[in-house]
Amino acid sequence: MRDILPNQARRWDLVEQKLTRVLQQHAYEAIRLPLLEFTELFARGVGEATDIVEKEMYTLADRDGDSLSLRPEGTASSVRMLQEHGLLYNQTQRVYYAGPMFRYEKPQKGRYRQFYQIGAEAYGFTGPDIDAELIGMAWACWQGLGVESMVNLEINTLGSSEDRQQYRTALVEFLTPKSEQLDDDSRRRLTTNPMRILDSKNPVTQALLNDAPKLPDFVDAQSREHYEGLKQLLVAMQIPFRENPNLVRGLDYYTHTVFEWVTQDLGSQGAVCAGGRYDGLVERLGGRATPGVGFAIGLDRVVLLHEIAVANAEPESEDRSADVYLCVTQPECNGAALVVANALRAALPTLRVRQHMGGGNLKKQLKKADACGAVAAILIDDDSLDQRALTIKHLRDASMGQQTLAFDAGIARLQQL
Ligand code: ATP
Ligand code: MG
Repeated sequence: MRDILPNQARRWDLVEQKLTRVLQQHAYEAIRLPLLEFTELFARGVGEATDIVEKEMYTLADRDGDSLSLRPEGTASSVRMLQEHGLLYNQTQRVYYAGPMFRYEKPQKGRYRQFYQIGAEAYGFTGPDIDAELIGMAWACWQGLGVESMVNLEINTLGSSEDRQQYRTALVEFLTPKSEQLDDDSRRRLTTNPMRILDSKNPVTQALLNDAPKLPDFVDAQSREHYEGLKQLLVAMQIPFRENPNLVRGLDYYTHTVFEWVTQDLGSQGAVCAGGRYDGLVERLGGRATPGVGFAIGLDRVVLLHEIAVANAEPESEDRSADVYLCVTQPECNGAALVVANALRAALPTLRVRQHMGGGNLKKQLKKADACGAVAAILIDDDSLDQRALTIKHLRDASMGQQTLAFDAGIARLQQL
C-alpha cells in the first residue's frame, strides 16, 4: 500500500474531478459504499473460485466472530446496498461509486494492494443501448482527460449463463487430455475456473488454445443479437473497438457483454477500465432477477496515463501549492491577515490563499512565498484593514513590481494572474 503525497494528490484530485464530472453529466448518481462487508457477500457475488476470493482478500474476524473482508471491488456491495433498501424493485438505477479497493496482489507499477476505482453501474435495463451508454461514458472520460489516443476498447460476448456453462464443459473436455502441457496456474484452473485459462499469458498454453472450442460458437441467437446491437451503436457513436473472442473477465458474475479498455503505455498492467453485463448477479445475491451492467475504472493507472499525456503536452508541469501568499509586515498584523485572507477567499473562490505563520522578517516570509510557487505575495500592514487596500507583490514577473490597490481593484488584478 502506498502513500500519495501532496504533489501527486493534486493530479489525483484533478483526474477524479474530471471523471466524476463525466458521470454526473450522464445523470449517474453517487453512492457511498462501506469499506467492509461480510466475506460471504464477495464469496457469493464475485465467486468462490475467482482469484479475488481465493487468494486476494483481506479478511478478518469481527469481535463477535463474523468474517468480514475489505472490499476488493464495488459491484457486489452496490447490489447489496440497492437491494437492501428496495431500490431495485420495479425501477431502474444508474449509480457510481469511487474509492479504495483492497486486494492482496504482488505490488508493482500499476498494481497495488490498496488501489482506487471509479465505477458506474446501471440496473433494470436489458437492451444493448445501456451497454453503449456506459462504454460511451468511459470514452468521454478518456476524452476529458486527453488520453483517448492511448487506450483501445476490446469487446466480447460471453452469452447467457447457460451458453457459458456449455462452453465451459466443452473447453474442459478439450483441455483435460492436454493438461500436462498447461502451465501450473492453468492446470489448477481447469477444475476451478476454466474460462480464465483463456487469459493465460503463457505461450505454450496460448498455442494449445488455438484449436480449442471458441466461445462465440456457443452463444445463442438472443445473445448474438444483443452483441450485434451493441456493435452497431458503437459504430454510430464513432467509438473504435476490437473484438477479442478470448476476453473473459476474472469475476464470475459476467454474462453477455464484456469489455476492457487497454493501453500499451503502462507495461504489463495494461487494463485501465473493465466491465460488462451481469444479469444474474442480483438473483445470485438473493434478489429478484434484475439485469445489471457496469464498469470500473482503475484510477491509479489512469493517473499514470494522465501523467504521461500531460508530460508529452507540456514537459514542465507546474508545481504550485498555493496561488497567493499573505505576509505580515509586523507581528501585530496577524489578525488583519486572517481577516484579509478570508475576504480574498470569498471574493475569489478558486484562489488558493496561504497565510504565513510563525513570524520572521519579511525577507524570510517572501522566500517561503516563492518556494510554494505563489504568483503573488500580499503584504499586510496596519492600514490593510482600515483602508481596505491590497498591497500585491508580483513574484514571477519582477517588472510588475509591487502595487497598493483598493480592495476591488486588487481582486481584479489577482484574477488576471
Ligand atoms: P487485472 O487483470 O489488471 O488484474 P482485473 O481484471 O483484476 O485487472 P477488475 O477487477 O475488473 O480488474 O478491476 C477493474 C480495473 O481496476 C482494472 O482494469 C484495473 O485498471 C484496476 N485494478 C484492478 N486491480 C488493481 C490493482 N491491484 N492495482 C491497481 N489497479 C487495479
Ligand atoms: Mg486482477
